[in-house]
Amino acid sequence: MDIYKSKVGRVCEPMKTDFIQHEFEAPAKGKVLIKVVASAICGSDLHIFKGKHPSVSLPSTIGHEFSGDVAAVGEGVTKVKVGERVTVEPCIVCGKCDACRHGDYGYCENISFTYRNGDGAMADYVLVDADYVYTLPDYLTYETGALIEPMSVATHAVRRADIRLGETVLVIGAGAIGMLVAAICRKNGAGEVIVADFSDARLDMAKQLGATMTINSGKQDLEAEISRLTNGKGVDKSFECVGLQATFLQAMMTLKRNGTATVIGIFENPQITIPASRFVTHEIHVQGAQGYCWDFPIALKLAREIDLSKLVTHTFPLDDLQTALETCLDRNSGSIKVILKP
Ligand SMILES: [Zn+2]
Ligand SMILES: [Zn+2]
Repeated sequence: MDIYKSKVGRVCEPMKTDFIQHEFEAPAKGKVLIKVVASAICGSDLHIFKGKHPSVSLPSTIGHEFSGDVAAVGEGVTKVKVGERVTVEPCIVCGKCDACRHGDYGYCENISFTYRNGDGAMADYVLVDADYVYTLPDYLTYETGALIEPMSVATHAVRRADIRLGETVLVIGAGAIGMLVAAICRKNGAGEVIVADFSDARLDMAKQLGATMTINSGKQDLEAEISRLTNGKGVDKSFECVGLQATFLQAMMTLKRNGTATVIGIFENPQITIPASRFVTHEIHVQGAQGYCWDFPIALKLAREIDLSKLVTHTFPLDDLQTALETCLDRNSGSIKVILKP
């Protein structure tokens, strides 16, 4: 019988990684074994690396943004063939709860993610259910294919925000998700897409991806600037892509009356203080967005027109996982998306 040896990267304690060995046998019925070619570091991996992810304890395998080649398929798998280039939607849902039975699997009562079950993609091989495997179209490389997962997160957030033609949108935080949200809002017909961040380099890249205006919130007062740009009205929609009290406040206080803020950032300190009366006086809406639900097929199509390769700033061999994670946390590295290659 074929045995597939896999080196699997973990965060063993805060700020420290190690590798464990895992042996896969030929995949069981309905399963697909993927030889990983490109695996990107996500902001959530960094929260785990710091030991500060609100729902992940250490040690934990990491990595859920990846692409590769199908190495073997189990009985009954017809969706993909051995050798095909693929990416994976890395969630695990029960299929039995009310949400799943309604097709709203993003709200599954028992939702988990492959990396939390030990199937992290900072590894040579990953075993997944065939239903969650997607063939990469020709216009995607392994590197850009690995970014379909964050692209799906951004797609999900923009769909929830229900962007209308000509609307003015503010995106706070020009990390990968913020930039993708900005790019997708523009494709979705937003008239003005304003991106705010502390880094001029990131703001430059946001412009290349579709932002119509940028604001360096380290140099300018964001709320005052938005008020000036919108004649005191505020923006139609805002996106919080950072996860801090200050940026949450900006996202709600820059909204026009009846505007909607969508919060995507992960809060390492979730207890924040906000002026609750604003909800009443301005009838604003603040909603969250997490993960995806039927967003992968849309993201795969949108990626034809958004140059995801611009986001890839660093590539490391898998053995350099520790250095790669440290590079992501280093503000001076200029990193946006860092990719590991087994
Ligand atoms: Zn991710
Ligand atoms: Zn379920």
